[in-house]
Amino acid sequence: MAGVTVSNLVKTYPSGSRRATDDVSLEVADGEFLVLVGPSGCGKTTLLRMVAGLETPDGGTVSIGGRDVTALPARDRRLSMVFQSYAIFPHLRVRENIGFGLTMRKVPKPEWESRVRRAAALLDLEDLLDRYPAQLSGGQRQRVAVARAIVVDADVLLMDEPLSNLDALLRMQFRAELKKIVARLGTTTLYVTHDQAEAMSLGDRVAVLRDGRIAQLGPPMDVYDRPAERFVGGFLGAPPMNFFLATVHDGRLVVDEQRSLPAPAVLGAWQDRKILVGVRAERLGVGVPDGLTAEVEVAEPTGAAVLLTVRWPAGELKVQAGPGFRAAPGDRITLTFPPGALRFFDPDTSLALP
Ligand code: ATP
Repeated sequence: MAGVTVSNLVKTYPSGSRRATDDVSLEVADGEFLVLVGPSGCGKTTLLRMVAGLETPDGGTVSIGGRDVTALPARDRRLSMVFQSYAIFPHLRVRENIGFGLTMRKVPKPEWESRVRRAAALLDLEDLLDRYPAQLSGGQRQRVAVARAIVVDADVLLMDEPLSNLDALLRMQFRAELKKIVARLGTTTLYVTHDQAEAMSLGDRVAVLRDGRIAQLGPPMDVYDRPAERFVGGFLGAPPMNFFLATVHDGRLVVDEQRSLPAPAVLGAWQDRKILVGVRAERLGVGVPDGLTAEVEVAEPTGAAVLLTVRWPAGELKVQAGPGFRAAPGDRITLTFPPGALRFFDPDTSLALP
């Protein structure tokens, strides 16, 4: 097995007006599961394809296991890839589809059989080995694609939106299975998704990309809890992080004439200036006496919680209340803002304050 090091990768497509990846550097440790996440067009697939050797960078290098592979073709990089479109062969049975990479490598028959069986067992496909892809469900086809990728014992596994063709429920089920399987194999994995929940759930670390650059890279909960910039807080989490402007004045965060919150001492340098405050929906206290009042616009029960959209002087907030919370549009509720839950950003640059 091997880690992956990407250094200063730059790529502009001939027809592209801006860089698809703009000086991206990152390291995936040996055995680590790293997720590249970001909105459509941020450069995730381009980055993955450069690691795979399917796209040539304009600048920068890719190393796998300490070896510079930038000039090597895909087939010599000892990696395997799972695509969104599964790319399994309709005219081959599941067995031959899974064993395809082994056939290409001319693996002897007995070993071929045992490795295909092992991969099939891992993905719960043993009873389907003699079927053709057309006789499988979408989820089963997806399993075949993953089985085919892991059967070859590659150093690195690359996956590009492998779950995106599945419906929401299957997606969630398969996500957990994939996590289990990859953990068991211990293969270094680079995984692309635009789905922030998938990124949070799967990654040992996540790299949030924006406009061809890494906005932030870290363990999912760190990135979720301490976004390095507004964009990251707004992209990770459902609902996204709330943001509002307040003026720092004499140790208070002033929202309007009637409402203010205690300001931490570190904001002393921002006296009489506006600051951008971020807070997660689940960190706000609801219905506590002495809170600040806000008006309910929408109450959405999700089963496990009630998601409220409330209006207060600084705009709209998403608030997560307990499952038993009852509120109707127009109700006035009180909110508390625990000091430890507040994050601060420079309103001009949108970057988190150090
Ligand atoms: P998505 O989630 O939509 O797949 P992505 O984050 O994977 O997006 P990329 O596919 O890497 O993004 O694209 C990055 C940028 O490069 C986009 O602006 C895209 O339009 C552009 N791009 C991608 N492929 C090509 C190509 N073959 N020719 C020209 N421009 C391209």
